[in-house]
Amino acid sequence: MYEALIEKLKNAYPENADEVLKAFEFAKNAHEGQKRMSGEDYFTHPCAVVEILVDFGFDYTTVIAAFLHDVLEDTPVTAQMIEENYGKQILELVEGVTKLDKVQFLSREDAQAENLRKMFLAMAKDLRVIIIKLADRLHNMRSLAFQPPEKQMYISKETLEIYAPLAGRLGISFFKCELEDIAMSYIYPKEYKYISDYIEKNHQKRAEFLDNICQQIVERMQEKGINGEVSSRQKHLFSIFKKMRNLNIDIDQIYDLLAVRIILDDVKECYTMLGEIHTMWKPIPGRVKDYIAMPKANNYQSLHTTVVTQYGETFEVQIRTKEMHKIAEYGIAAHWKYKEGKNDAALEAKISWLREVMDAEKDILGAHEFMDAVKINVFDDEVFVFTPKGDVYGLPVGSTPIDLAYKIHSAIGNKCVGAKINKKIVPLSTKLQTGDIVEILTSNSSKGPSRDWLKYAHTASARSKIRAFFKKQMKEDNIRRGKELLEREARHRGYSLSELLMTEGATDAILARQSLSTIEDLYAAVGFGGITTNQVLVKLIDLFKARALTRKMPEQIAEEQIPAEKPSSASSKHGGYPRGGVLIKGFKDFSVRLSHCCSPVPGDEIVGYVSRGRGVSVHRKNCPNVKTLEPERLIEATWDSLVGDTYSVTLRLECENRPGMLADVTAVIAALKIQILSASAKVNVKDNTALLIVTIEINSSSQLDEVVKKLRTISGMHEVNR
Ligand code: MN
Repeated sequence: MYEALIEKLKNAYPENADEVLKAFEFAKNAHEGQKRMSGEDYFTHPCAVVEILVDFGFDYTTVIAAFLHDVLEDTPVTAQMIEENYGKQILELVEGVTKLDKVQFLSREDAQAENLRKMFLAMAKDLRVIIIKLADRLHNMRSLAFQPPEKQMYISKETLEIYAPLAGRLGISFFKCELEDIAMSYIYPKEYKYISDYIEKNHQKRAEFLDNICQQIVERMQEKGINGEVSSRQKHLFSIFKKMRNLNIDIDQIYDLLAVRIILDDVKECYTMLGEIHTMWKPIPGRVKDYIAMPKANNYQSLHTTVVTQYGETFEVQIRTKEMHKIAEYGIAAHWKYKEGKNDAALEAKISWLREVMDAEKDILGAHEFMDAVKINVFDDEVFVFTPKGDVYGLPVGSTPIDLAYKIHSAIGNKCVGAKINKKIVPLSTKLQTGDIVEILTSNSSKGPSRDWLKYAHTASARSKIRAFFKKQMKEDNIRRGKELLEREARHRGYSLSELLMTEGATDAILARQSLSTIEDLYAAVGFGGITTNQVLVKLIDLFKARALTRKMPEQIAEEQIPAEKPSSASSKHGGYPRGGVLIKGFKDFSVRLSHCCSPVPGDEIVGYVSRGRGVSVHRKNCPNVKTLEPERLIEATWDSLVGDTYSVTLRLECENRPGMLADVTAVIAALKIQILSASAKVNVKDNTALLIVTIEINSSSQLDEVVKKLRTISGMHEVNR
């Protein structure tokens, strides 16, 4: 079997046979020992996919990628190995196919299917990725009998909803028809049997009938001196089924069950031949269609007529040039929407560039080069994302989780408190990518969107919904109620609200802190319940007291007032104040610092403490100081991604005071490639012990655990603690 394929490859790609055969060997070795459900060697599968593509006339690059299409997923072969052996282009094709394999089609509704098809196209920047995927699916359908029944159904449905229409879109009717027919045999077995039995039963009769018709046409062409090919084609089963179902008719009422195809050299001959056909048989009125003068919106060109013989038998005749035929059968965009019964003007507009390329290039380039030239960038302005339930949403490029939340429902947007992309918590300003699984986190206790969201929302609709929320919140009575609440509560605490607000800079500070622009906004927010009186008054009273003190002891207080927002680069590296690194629930770009008392490192369980005017300090959850802090100021904190960030940790080592002890300690640390920032030693002569204080720079808690473990194994080491 392999030998036949090798021969075929040598014939098809005489100039690149070596490269193609190298890929053959490479994939064969990679899949060595793996089996398919059918019990055959796994390698028979890539071979079958390759064979489909070779027969189709695809370029050798596509064929090499097809050989390799499953190695990244199923074998130890790495992306690097492919790139080294075959270059970047082939690696991109293989990775593209692998990526599409991972898209889970969880949802089965039609509206979703349309989006999924678009997403598929968007994800495969190089059209050949889709071509390989379709050939892969075709072979998997051909060998579907070996799968368990449940899987047969699932794969067939997916094929019918996603892959076959995709093939139809791309005009590859060869893929489309076979995919549909196989899928139909699993999903509609009764109907499949009914139609195929009918065709079987009538086969002999029809074959004779059509042979006779074709013969008559050939004779007429010879008389008129017209060269061309005449053949017959039968409508494929699934399209017969669809027509029966849509028009509610039986199979013998379908006019174009049979068609005769006449392929000629030029357009003039097509019209001549149409006239000849109409002198031979009677045309059925209203069924003559001139798609040459008026091509279908998808560029399909052909003359169609349905005629009836003197015995009442009907058949369709399609007349076109070789060029038109090629596009109808194999062209990418020619069949873009053929017979799909949908009119998608927006999509049409988007692919017009593709047609222009086709028209301009088809004469100059061969089919192979043409495929090379065409790269899909049809959906570059849209991203498609999943919800965890598998619903698909299309959004403009640049959209964030906020846009998605408001697109799902305004109420979801207004209750949004965060988002996960591919199961990881992300800032709400994160831009969505096609294929992302996005979960919107909501909370019933959320007081609504934050003002910042207006900056992060990309779509006009999300922004207008956010504004609508604030507008509602701004209503007069909220302002009045908010003001009353604040006045009452301030009095309760022994201050007057107007006095507090008169503190220099207080109004600005409180508005900036809450991302509000006017004092009415603040009253309204309090009245509405978006902000508590406590949040406002604590800050105002702090500022009031601070100003009062500043007047007495300017230097001392001034220092306290310095917000720790931008620590110097030195402290960021060695003092344990990395920027970022920690996520504080519900806040972005918050000034965060790691506290000195317990020096948390990534992996430690941590908690944030909202300090007055100093942002958030982060402690280990078990830090003794946490117990002394005001519980209502504690907030959830988690570690962000930590690539490249390092943290300093101080270790306390109690050990025997022996010669070489310090050298052993530094050797253990250095062996782990950990940097020592400082070290000091104190010797207790009385009991011959030493206390070493060592500060090291580490990048994770697991690294810390490792160094502590190693230090404990040093001879004479009594205790190692943070
Ligand atoms: Mn495969």
